[in-house]
Amino acid sequence: MSRKDTGEKKAARLDKKGIKKLRSIFRFMLPYKGTFTVGIISLFFSSTVLLALPRLTGELLDTALGNSTIPYLENLTQVGLALMAVLVLQSIFSFARVYFFAIVNENAMADLRRALYEKFMSLPMSFYDKNRSGELFSRITSDVAVLQDTFSTTLAELFRQVATLVLGIIILFTLNFKLTMFMMLTFPILIIAAIIFGKFIRKLSKGTQDALADTNIIVEETLQSIATVKTFANEHFEVTRYANNLFNVIKIALKAATYKGAFISFIITVLMGGIIGVLWYGTYMVSTEEITVGNLISFVLYTMFIGGSIGGLGDIYGNIQKAVGATDRVEEILNAESEHQIDKENVPRLQGNISFKNVIFSYPTRKEIEVLKGVDLEINQGERVALVGKSGGGKSTIAQLLQRFYAIDSGDILIDGKSTQDYNLIGYRKHVGVVPQEVLLFGGSIEENIKYGNPEASKEEVIDAARKANALEFIESFPEGFDTLVGERGVKLSGGQRQRIAIARAILKDPAILILDEATSALDIESEKLVQDALETLMEGRTSLIIAHRLSTIRNADKIAVLESGKIKEIGKHDELMQNESGAYNKLIQLQEF
Ligand code: ADP
Repeated sequence: MSRKDTGEKKAARLDKKGIKKLRSIFRFMLPYKGTFTVGIISLFFSSTVLLALPRLTGELLDTALGNSTIPYLENLTQVGLALMAVLVLQSIFSFARVYFFAIVNENAMADLRRALYEKFMSLPMSFYDKNRSGELFSRITSDVAVLQDTFSTTLAELFRQVATLVLGIIILFTLNFKLTMFMMLTFPILIIAAIIFGKFIRKLSKGTQDALADTNIIVEETLQSIATVKTFANEHFEVTRYANNLFNVIKIALKAATYKGAFISFIITVLMGGIIGVLWYGTYMVSTEEITVGNLISFVLYTMFIGGSIGGLGDIYGNIQKAVGATDRVEEILNAESEHQIDKENVPRLQGNISFKNVIFSYPTRKEIEVLKGVDLEINQGERVALVGKSGGGKSTIAQLLQRFYAIDSGDILIDGKSTQDYNLIGYRKHVGVVPQEVLLFGGSIEENIKYGNPEASKEEVIDAARKANALEFIESFPEGFDTLVGERGVKLSGGQRQRIAIARAILKDPAILILDEATSALDIESEKLVQDALETLMEGRTSLIIAHRLSTIRNADKIAVLESGKIKEIGKHDELMQNESGAYNKLIQLQEF
C-alpha cells in the first residue's frame, strides 16, 4: 500500500494557516464558552498565584536575617501564613481549571465525533470507494483523541507556560535589572538551538509517524482477511513483513532520538549554566550589597521556573503541530460533500415503473472506463425482470444506480415518470428493497436484524415478516428465539438462513421496487426451496429487478434483459430469445454463463 493511500501525509506546519485551522475546531467549543471562560480564568490564577512562591521563600530568608523587603510580612508567621494561602488558592484554582476544561472538552469532542459520524453516514459511495475504512475509522478515534488531548492539556499548558514566562521575567526585572539582563544572555542561544534542532526533529517525527502508519495498515489488512492469510499459510510471511516495517520505524525513531537527546542535553546544560552564572554573579552582588540573600534565592527560583517553561514550550510546540495535522484530517471529512442531508422527508408510495433512458456511467474512481454505454430498459409496475450477462458486464452497477449510489454521467433513470434525482434521496431509498448475494448481519439479536428493515415495526410485524420469509421455524428452534445473537460474536447462521433474514427485513421495509442479487453458490435443495418460496412471497405485487444466476428464475421472469459490455443486447421472454440461435442469450444459456 503506497503512502499516498493513507491520505494523511500532508505536512502539517505550524504556520499561520496551521493556527487558523486549529481555530476552526474552536467552533465546537463555542456552545460552552461560558464554562470555557471560567476555565481560562481559573487557569490564569492557578498559574500566576504560584509565581508568588519564590518571592515569599526569599522573603522568609530575609525576614529571618532581619531585613524583610515586603511590607506587612514582617515576621516568620506572617510569611508562613502567606505561603499557605498561596498553596490553598492555587489548589482551588487548579481543581477548577481541570474540572471546567473537562466539561467543555468532553462535550465539544463528543459533538465533534457526532458531527463526523453524521458526515460518514451522509457521504456518497464514491467517497468510500476512494478511502480506506480503517483510515477513516482512525479519524473519529485517534485524530479526535489528539485534539482532545490538545484542548484539555496542551493549550492549557501553553497558556500556563507563557504566563509563567512573561510574568516571571517581569518579576525578575523588578527584583534586579542587572541580574535579569545577565540571565537573559542565554536566551538567544536557546532560541537558535530550538529553531535548528526543531526542524530536524519535526521532519523525523513525521517520518516515524508515517512509518508507523504503514505498519498499522499491515495489521488492519491482515486481520480483515485473516482467512486468506491462513489459506495461503502465509503467517510467517506476514510476521516477517510486519517485523521489517517495525524495524524501519525503530530506525527512524532512533535517528529522531539522537537529535532529541542532543537537543535536550544542550538545553539543560545552557539552563543550568545560566543558573550557575546567576548564582556566581548574584553572590558577587550580595557581597557588594547590591542585592539581599533572600532576593538572590527568589531570583534563582524564578529562573528555574522560567527554565522549566522554556523546556516545556518545545513539547507543546510538537503537540500543537500534531493537533494541526489531526485538524486537517478531521476537517477533510467535515468538508467533504454529502450526498444528502440526514433528514426524513417522505416520498409517497411509488408505483414502481422503472425506466432507464440511455444511461451512460463510469465509476468516479475509474473515470476512463465507461461501464454502462447507453442502457435503455423499461420495467413496468409489478414486472419481474431478470438481468443476465457475463460477469463484469455491469449488472450490479445497474442495481447500484437504481439505488442512487452514484450520479450517472448522462441519460436518466425515471421512476413513475419522474427522474430519480427529483426525489428526496432518503425518502426514495425507503421504497427500494435489496436482498443481496452475501447477506451481512449486524451484531445483535435476530429481532434487531429483521427490524433493520423498519425500526418502527412491532414485535407482531417482525414475527409475521419472519413467517412470510420462511424463517420463523428455524428462529424458534433456537433456545433464545428472536433474541438469539448473530453477527461477529453470535451464532453463525447458514447462507440460506441469512438470506431468509434478509428477505424478512425486506418484507418489513415493504418497498415498491425490489433488487434481488441471486447467490451464485447453490444452497442445499431444501434450503433453496424455502428461500425461493420466501422470495416469491416478497416479490408479490412489487417491481423486481433480479440479477439472476439460476435458470429457473430466468425462465420465470416476465422479461430477460441480456447485458453485454455495458449495453442491453437483447430483451424478451426465454422462449422468444431462445429462438434466435445466434443470439447473445442463446450463447449464454449454452455456455451457462449467467
Ligand atoms: P456484473 O455485476 O455484471 O458482474 P459489475 O457491475 O459489478 O458487473 O461491474 C462492471 C464493471 O464495473 C467492472 O469492470 C467492474 O470492475 C467495474 N466496477 C464495479 N464496481 C466498481 C467500483 N465501485 N469502482 C470502480 N469500478 C467498479
